[in-house]
Amino acid sequence: METREQLYEGKAKTLYATDDPRLLVQHFKDDATAFNAQKRGTIHDKGVVNNRMSEYLFRYLEEHGIHTHFVERTDDRRMVVQRLTMLPIEVIVRNRIAGSLAKRLGVAEGTAAKQRIIEFSLKSDELGDPLLTDDHILALGLVEAAELAQVKEVTGRIADLLTAFFAERGLELIDFKIELGHDADGRLTLGDEICPDTMRLWDMATGEKKDKDRFRHDLGDVEETYQEVLARVLAD
Ligand code: 5GP
Repeated sequence: METREQLYEGKAKTLYATDDPRLLVQHFKDDATAFNAQKRGTIHDKGVVNNRMSEYLFRYLEEHGIHTHFVERTDDRRMVVQRLTMLPIEVIVRNRIAGSLAKRLGVAEGTAAKQRIIEFSLKSDELGDPLLTDDHILALGLVEAAELAQVKEVTGRIADLLTAFFAERGLELIDFKIELGHDADGRLTLGDEICPDTMRLWDMATGEKKDKDRFRHDLGDVEETYQEVLARVLAD
């Protein structure tokens, strides 16, 4: 398989076409942004960690019946993935109330939630990924009703699997963001990446933050934390 032209450059990843129209190469960078790119920096070897961790978690989810776009990891920073037609929404799962929701509702970071929250936002950097209600999604025709139900069902299964996976490694999964799309056969498929950039993980013993919040809020030990989380993920 041959890597061809660059299709898209995002904040943390670059996507390339290949000589196979069904496949793309996803390249993970060390660039880090926060607060809708108002804060920028680099995290040494973040791309390597996120590539390995995404590979491991995509394989784990596949083993448990979730369709993902992962095909194979080809080097430290690259993986081959299926080309998907992405839904125009981001899906966020919250086991506790933290981050933007804690701020918006004026509650303490880490407030317990009586039930798991699944929320959606519009994929739009210009608008800062605004929150979407189900009615917004249906009224704008972003996703059909039946598919929205399927998105919630598969997201719930992914949340159960990831929450249990990290708990076994002494990490509480506070929240995470996923992106879904359709593969060439029209199947709803998990895309993008799953890594400390896209989730909050708190150490169950110490309460320490083990994710991108260390970069967002200048908490220190950013590189070390990414490496530690990867080591905990890979430790069977
Ligand atoms: P919040 O809404 O609190 O900022 O984010 C909730 C969770 O989703 C966090 O784990 C955060 O890392 C993830 N998340 C939400 N939006 C984005 C995004 O645009 N990019 C990335 N990398 N993660 C996001």
